[in-house]
Amino acid sequence: MTEAILEIALATPLRRLFDYLPPHGAQAVTLAPGIRVTVPFGQRMVTGLLLGVKSTSELGLDKLKHAAAVLDTKPLLSPEMIELCRWSSHYYLYPLGDALFHALPPWLRKGKPDKDSCAPGWQLNPRGQGLNPGAFARAPRQQQALAHLIQHQRVLQSELGLHGLSRAALQALVSKGVVDQTEVMLEPPPLEIAQGPQLNHEQRTAVTAVCRGLGQFSPYLLEGITGSGKTEVYLNTIAAILRRGEQALVLVPEIGLTPQIQARFEERFPGQVVTLHSGLSDGERLQGWQAARRGLIRVVIGTRSAVLTSFRCLGLIVVDEEHDTSYKQQEGFRYSARDVAVKRAQLESIPIVLGSATPSAETMQNALQGRYQTLLLQQRAGSARAPSYQLLDLREQNLLEGFSDTLLQAMQGNLDQGNQILVFLNRRGFAPALICHDCGWVANCQHCDVRMVVHRRLRILKCHHCEAQAQLPHSCPACGSSRLVGVGLGTERSEAFLQSRFKNTPIMRIDRDTTRHKGAMDKFLARIGSGQPAILVGTQMLAKGHHFPRVTLVAVLDADAGLCSTDFRGPERTAQMLIQVAGRAGRADRPGTVIIQTHFPQHPLLQLLIQGRYRQVSEQILAERSALQLPPFGYMGIVRCDAPDPAGAPELLQKLRHFLPAQTGVNVIGPLAPPIARRAGRYRSQLLFKSPRRGNLHHTLQRAVAWMQEHAKGYRLRWSVDIDPQDSI
Ligand code: ADP
Ligand code: ZN
Ligand code: ZN
Repeated sequence: MTEAILEIALATPLRRLFDYLPPHGAQAVTLAPGIRVTVPFGQRMVTGLLLGVKSTSELGLDKLKHAAAVLDTKPLLSPEMIELCRWSSHYYLYPLGDALFHALPPWLRKGKPDKDSCAPGWQLNPRGQGLNPGAFARAPRQQQALAHLIQHQRVLQSELGLHGLSRAALQALVSKGVVDQTEVMLEPPPLEIAQGPQLNHEQRTAVTAVCRGLGQFSPYLLEGITGSGKTEVYLNTIAAILRRGEQALVLVPEIGLTPQIQARFEERFPGQVVTLHSGLSDGERLQGWQAARRGLIRVVIGTRSAVLTSFRCLGLIVVDEEHDTSYKQQEGFRYSARDVAVKRAQLESIPIVLGSATPSAETMQNALQGRYQTLLLQQRAGSARAPSYQLLDLREQNLLEGFSDTLLQAMQGNLDQGNQILVFLNRRGFAPALICHDCGWVANCQHCDVRMVVHRRLRILKCHHCEAQAQLPHSCPACGSSRLVGVGLGTERSEAFLQSRFKNTPIMRIDRDTTRHKGAMDKFLARIGSGQPAILVGTQMLAKGHHFPRVTLVAVLDADAGLCSTDFRGPERTAQMLIQVAGRAGRADRPGTVIIQTHFPQHPLLQLLIQGRYRQVSEQILAERSALQLPPFGYMGIVRCDAPDPAGAPELLQKLRHFLPAQTGVNVIGPLAPPIARRAGRYRSQLLFKSPRRGNLHHTLQRAVAWMQEHAKGYRLRWSVDIDPQDSI
């Protein structure tokens, strides 16, 4: 008999699979792809994932080691999931073993057993099986418990209250020897779908369209203005999926910021929803993952990494706010969860809904080309109306700490009517720079090429790109002058100003600094939800997905930073941000106003935005990108490198550039320093690759990665490759 050889993926940066012989005594039939094995690797024992069984190895049989043990009886990953990881590994040029391990919760990666999902409870034992439901009639509580067990076989401790059963009665049945107290296997809860609002015509059309695509790969763009009821479309489509006995995956940009969406799903599908995000403990992650894979829950809501969750029977994927940049992982495995989700839907032959008020250029292009079917929601749901816009020309205005007189008057008017106001400024801290009025000294970070940000309440200077902090100096370190001034505006400064200006109104600052603690955001949301007049001042955290029915005025303090950006994605990001933040105004029965302060009121992008024509903005952006062969018309990849010395990274990338044969159709730019050339004490450099053909780009980058793998060793260098990069820093 020929020996079976196991092809095993390990979580190592080595870009290859490893051959092992089966453990002594293992049955070949138990060796299905997707199970875990422990294998000796170097001096250690590590967990690996079996990908295949073959009959020959490039190494001689006598060179192969035996695997130590088989950890699972059934595959942890389905063939589709393995295929998805293979695809991602290939597409993002990331080691396959590492990609596969991303699809497992941390405990399983470490080789812990994949225990059955059980919980403490009681079940009838063989003696109890024979009893008739009327037994123990003289002890009514016991009789009730027995009747329940005869009907359902089992009851969980956590469900006693739900069924009105008494613990003492069950214990009495245990002492009578008819019931066992044991670990009970969990089962899916009964399908229960709560009633939602009556859908409007557009929503119904959208739900019907998606339902036509069930059971096959069909991608949809759900393009709906903010407040148009996209979430209701998701909920209704998911309801249809659940009735088919299938499960749904809902990806959201950030869960901690939007507990509201989670609450709405739980209300609609009680006891059938689990959330997966980075804030969970390893134990909670394992539980959630197992619940999804065993079909114990029906809906997973999760952030980026949830795209690799295993399901028993996945029937639909929703990507909410599909344009959001947080779907792209910015380190390690630099995948886009949205793009992986589309691939997954294709591999699993299921529909996928990409929802947004401001679709990304990539998705818009796919929709325009007919690869995605577009579903439009153009009206606000319920009684809410679209907000009206006002562009405030800053050139004609007096400014007080960034607020124009006109804006301050409008704010007063809204407060007088008992409403809430949202002030948007996408910069946290007090001031983005500290300078000496007398000599021009500037507080720079010692480790990065950036300015330190003034945080006045904490009396510190902070670098927003590394961990560096310093005491706020009392006098200039260069000339000793005490005339140090914070230059520019941050949310903390706006908060201080508003507190002095609107003394009787609560001011809530909502940014990364004030929401760091667990539950902080919930507290803010509860205060806002109480409906009292208030001013919320905050960063993009406030712009995302929230439903604030009492906010009638949204003020954008400074629209210009985004308009002047040099990044080719600047206009797209600015438009998306402005529309998202404007969308917080007038979401209920009170009409909303959006005031945008700018020095460029005639800017074509702003003009289109205030007329509510994101589609035209998008078409213009696409036309520009097309002319310049920028994404989605051309493809990009970056090889990044950094080192503790200034020369290491650019020298290595220069050599890489020389090594690469000139491939027609691939444009290599660099090595260049990114906008922040030094970060956390490391000097950075990068090579940018552009091509109108993805195949050519991929081929060149594959060679680049192989070369870096070989040559980036001896140096104290770090390097990475980024496919479809979202930013150039
Ligand atoms: P979006 O996700 O598009 O921003 P939501 O789904 O959050 O919009 O809906 C905005 C508000 O309108 C929510 O409070 C929601 O409950 C309500 N809503 C949605 N659809 C309807 C409907 N058909 N009838 C009444 N209210 C609705
Ligand atoms: Zn000075
Ligand atoms: Zn720094």
